[in-house]
Formats: sequence, C-alpha cells, structure tokens
Amino acid sequence: MASVWFYNIPFHGHVNPTLPLIRELVVRGDEVTYFSTATFEARIQVTGAHFRAYSSSYSFEQTRKVAHVVHLGYQVAEATYALLPDVLSSIAEERPDYLMFDMSAPWGKIASRQMRIPAVASFPHLPFYWRTVLSDWRVLRKGMRSIRPGYGYWRRLQRQTAKIVKDYRLRDPKALNVLSSSAELNIVYSSRHFQPYEKHFDDSYLYVGPQIELARQEAPMTIQKRAGQRLIYIAVGTVYQANLDFFRACIKAFAETEYLVILSVGRAIDPEALGATPTNFRIEQYVPQLSVLEQSDVFITHGGMNSISESVMYGVPMIVVPNTIEQAINAARVEQLNAGLYLDSSRLTSVKLRQAVESLLTKSSTTFGLGQIRRSFEEAGGVQRAADAIHALKESRGLA
Ligand code: UDP
Repeated sequence: MASVWFYNIPFHGHVNPTLPLIRELVVRGDEVTYFSTATFEARIQVTGAHFRAYSSSYSFEQTRKVAHVVHLGYQVAEATYALLPDVLSSIAEERPDYLMFDMSAPWGKIASRQMRIPAVASFPHLPFYWRTVLSDWRVLRKGMRSIRPGYGYWRRLQRQTAKIVKDYRLRDPKALNVLSSSAELNIVYSSRHFQPYEKHFDDSYLYVGPQIELARQEAPMTIQKRAGQRLIYIAVGTVYQANLDFFRACIKAFAETEYLVILSVGRAIDPEALGATPTNFRIEQYVPQLSVLEQSDVFITHGGMNSISESVMYGVPMIVVPNTIEQAINAARVEQLNAGLYLDSSRLTSVKLRQAVESLLTKSSTTFGLGQIRRSFEEAGGVQRAADAIHALKESRGLA
C-alpha cells in the first residue's frame, strides 16, 4: 500500500474528473489524502479518500470571481506562494510516498521537486501547445484579447512567480507554469483524437478519456417538456464570471419561442439581474448538468473541457461561445470534428444564436462527428489505464 497526497484547486471542472480515478486507487489499496475546500468534502470522502482542507493561509473565495486567464494565473501564483510553506512542512513531517496534483496546482509540482517525491499530474483541460493558437484566427484573436485586459494582472503574475522562483530557489523557472503544470506522468481526461497536434505530446501524456461520474450525488431536476418540444441547455461552467450580455442575447434569441430553455448562470450572478424570466425559460445558478444534457437537443456552452466531453457522451451537438483561450481551442476543435459550431462572443447577436441553433436542429444526428469522438473516449482506457500507469510508476520507484 502506498500513500498518495492529491492537491487540487476547488473548481468543479477540476475535481469532477478526478473522483473515479481516486476511487480506483483506493480500491487498489492506496491510501489517498485529497486536499480541497469544504465544498468538496463529502464528494471526496465518498470515494474512500481522506479529505484534508488547505491551510487557512489562502482562501480560494477570491478565485470565484476570475475574469480572464491571466487573472486566473495570478490567483494560482498567489495561492502557490501562500500555500507552499504549509505544503512543504506537512510533507516533510508525514512523507507521503507519491504526489498527485492538478495542472493548475503548481504547489504540488514544486513540492514534488523540492522533496524528491514522484508525482503524477492531472489534466482536466487539454495540455497547452502554442501552435494550436496560431491554427485558427478566432483562437488567436481570443488569445490577444485575453492578454490585453489582463495587463495589470500580467505584471502582478510576473512579480508573484519571480518571488516563488527566488524564495524556493527553483533551478528551472520555466518549469513553473502556473496553468499547465506537468509531471513525469500526466493523466489527460480526453482522447488523442480530440487533442489538436497530438503528436507534440509524448508518452508521458496518457489520454484516458473523460471521467464522467454518471451517478453524481446531486439533487435531480424535474424537466417538464411538452411532447416533441426541443430543449436548449445553456451553461457557462463554474470558473469564469459570465457576462450578462451573453445571457441577455440568449434570452432575446429564445424568449417565448417553441423551445424549452434551461439557463445555468453560475453562482456569481443573481438570476433576477436578468429581469423577468420568459415563460419558456428556467434560469438557475446551478443545475445537475448530466440529467439536463440527457434530455437536451442542443447545448450552448462556454466550451469547458468537461462540458464538451459530457455533451459528446450524451450525443448533444454544441454551440460553443468561448470566454478564454483554452475554451477557444476546444471550440475550434469541436467545429473541426463536426460536433457543433464555434460562435465568437465579441460578435454574438441573438439572431446568430437562433440561426446556429436552427442549423444544428435541422441536421440528422448521424451527420455529426459526435459518435467518433465518443468512441475515441470509450477506447481511451479510462481509470483502469490511468491506475495501471500509476502502478508502473510506483513500481519503477520501488513503491509498489
Ligand atoms: N456543472 C454543473 N451544473 C452547472 C454548471 C456546471 O453540473 O450548472 C458542471 C459540469 O457538468 C462540469 C463542470 O461543472 O462537469 C464544469 O466544468 P467545465 O470544464 O465544463 O468548465 P469550468 O467550470 O472548468 O469552466
């Protein structure tokens, strides 16, 4: 039996895909300690792992209001600086056998290097490769825009990372990639078919397919659809603050139409800010996404990796309106693989939204590439393959 400490950031999209793997590691006999915040305590404990709260030196509350990718990078760098003293001292005291860390939890990577402990990284989003940005003008433009409004944060991010490099005497500062921390083994919850430029990523990147907890412990939602009525589901994930104009455009596009529309606006937005709810809409801050997708005909999404994978698994074509560069990369890939359409948020109108929905609804489901992506996910090996690779890593280090 080996002991493993898993460091994650407390976002649904980062925690959700890890839980089936954690359960598998527990079943195979590892003793897993999972660091997160109280929001995830119950769901972590259900897997058989021990939940441990991060020290109070950093409150993840502020990361709930992230506006763009550079802002998120700065928050992660700040969290890293605040958490590292406690992370390092507890590892020195209790000596876990190996570590796991999320791609956006670089304190795990630094700890593994400083303490010379083997580590596995967990990638709920696709690992980043700069050429992808250049392959589509919409992605490139999104990249330029996401850096510009973040200029103030860019400087703060640089200062914060320089402090980490200096205080922890990091020999290779380039290894401190706050939003895409890698390790000797990297578990990616997608498939090589979905990864653009997949050949760029060597065998240390193991694409095991999305890990969707079909039996999520969530309150069910009753959806009252008339016979033959089509359901449009709209959601923007749980990380970035959504823009009210986007929701207003959605309401304008579909209010009082023949469609039933479920709109999840996220915890940062009060649905009342959107005015009177049209009779064919349900507007909530959070919905049980899987049960909603199961009944949906079209998904209008921000393009988070989990949302895309979930939509593929339920065979729902997508309209992706990305906020950030990594979501733009996903959106371009969805369009390339014929699983839906990419709409640019800066040029979005209610007319474009309605036309996009109509064009997807008039196509037969077999004309989409959803089935092929789904097959690539199913053939990727899942948590068994991930756990086998982790076992091989442990064996190579005399831990198995
Ligand atoms: N989610 C949900 N209900 C909501 C909004 C989101 O269950 O109303 C879940 C969704 O199923 C997915 C995760 O939250 O598993 C969002 O992850 P994603 O990678 O799509 O986006 P992120 O939140 O990381 O931007």
